[in-house]
Amino acid sequence: MTWQNWGRSESASPVRVVTPASADEVATAIADARRDGLTVKPIGAGHSFTGIAVADGVQLNLSRLSGLLSVDRELQQVTLAAGTHLHEVPALLAPHGLAMQNLGDIDAQTVAGATSTGTHGTGAAFGGLATQIVAVTLVTAAGEILRIDASHELFNAARLGLGSLGVLVDITVQCVPAFKLAAVEAPEPLAGVLESFLERSAAPDHFEFYWFPHTTTALTKTNTRLALTEPSVPLGGFKRWLDDEFMSNTVFSWVCGIGRSIPAAIPSINRLASQLTGDRAFTDVSTSVFTTVRRVRFREMEYALAVEAIPEAVREIDRLITRKGWRISFPLEVRVAAPDDIWLSTAYGRRTGYVAVHRYVKEDHHEYFRAVEEVFRTFGGRPHWGKIHYRDAGDFATLYPRFDDFLAARDKLDPDRVFANAYLTRVLG
Ligand SMILES: Cc1cc2nc3c(=O)[nH]c(=O)nc-3n(C[C@H](O)[C@H](O)[C@H](O)COP(=O)(O)OP(=O)(O)OC[C@H]3O[C@@H](n4cnc5c(N)ncnc54)[C@H](O)[C@@H]3O)c2cc1C
Repeated sequence: MTWQNWGRSESASPVRVVTPASADEVATAIADARRDGLTVKPIGAGHSFTGIAVADGVQLNLSRLSGLLSVDRELQQVTLAAGTHLHEVPALLAPHGLAMQNLGDIDAQTVAGATSTGTHGTGAAFGGLATQIVAVTLVTAAGEILRIDASHELFNAARLGLGSLGVLVDITVQCVPAFKLAAVEAPEPLAGVLESFLERSAAPDHFEFYWFPHTTTALTKTNTRLALTEPSVPLGGFKRWLDDEFMSNTVFSWVCGIGRSIPAAIPSINRLASQLTGDRAFTDVSTSVFTTVRRVRFREMEYALAVEAIPEAVREIDRLITRKGWRISFPLEVRVAAPDDIWLSTAYGRRTGYVAVHRYVKEDHHEYFRAVEEVFRTFGGRPHWGKIHYRDAGDFATLYPRFDDFLAARDKLDPDRVFANAYLTRVLG
């Protein structure tokens, strides 16, 4: 069996695939693998662009560990089986009047896969998914089943563990009362958005923008949280299909194909895209606003920088693209997050801004990504663990103050490297 990730940048041919349905079955799968001298790798939805989910030995498919296990209505906490997909969560939480605090751009990932790589959305007062986690159940290499909550010394390692510490079987999430979002999407001059970025990104609940290279327009998105009782003003079915399906997927896929054949056309196409999209306002339940469907495959690199560095980093990437004469069809995406205390979180200890660059799946991404990474490196950037980068453990020792503590946790929980693969060896040593 050959496994491929969504971005078609990684593949694997595991020796066997096991589909456990309980923590005990996970422990048995680990013991069997060790007996046969094989490594173990749980996979989620395969939406990481890096080789973090590549399983050479035993691939653990967690599709039978799915669903809502318990609800504490008073604390507004829910325990989800680790293989639950984020798109399944709204329907599971709705009967309890609850929702996830914040989400990224899509909801195809599993809860365990998303937290293990530090998946995040945007919002100056909001952290990534791992910050919403209050406890996990982890099966270690020795087959121990550990319940790890805030009182446990390894809590801030286990919430974002790169799949290197063991197999998560369930995750308890701090939810919030279900809410709506008022979304305003508008094209604005890029120069002004960068000039005012610190204020613009700090004031609203959720602010982000896209910028198509070769244009001077930023497509801003500003989402304001509202009570669930506020009236909805949803996009009409046709408008939603036109914007989110036809323009963002069907037309965009044609455009990427044209851009690949005729790169000289890309600047004009990007200018047209900036004029035709991103001008609308609507109010809807949070999950319908946070996430969209991405059907055009691409590769992505995303770096976390101190938020103050974002405007200059974007300007520098603009200058780099012009200097190199590249034609880039995919936009940059810029987001923010609150500081947190999770050891391998890209937002550890600092108010964070994220810049993501993308390339169409049929184009070579390496030259562009390597050069952009040099820009991020000069700003002390930390790469997203699930998105393409070229850094290794030597870099991370200086970028993460608690890196050595994480390595010590790994030595303790997986001394024989049962959960290792080539990516983890590169980034953790
Ligand atoms: C189209 C697209 C949009 C994206 N948007 C965003 C975004 O908005 N924000 C963002 O931050 N990221 C985003 N990402 C990146 C994505 O969220 C992460 O790469 C995420 O890890 C993918 O989750 P997954 O379920 O596919 O996990 P996988 O990629 O399958 O696995 C990721 C890691 O989790 C580990 N893992 C999985 N299950 C378990 C388990 N039970 N126990 C222990 N470890 C486990 C795997 O071993 C692996 O190390 C996007 C990716 C794509 C393709």
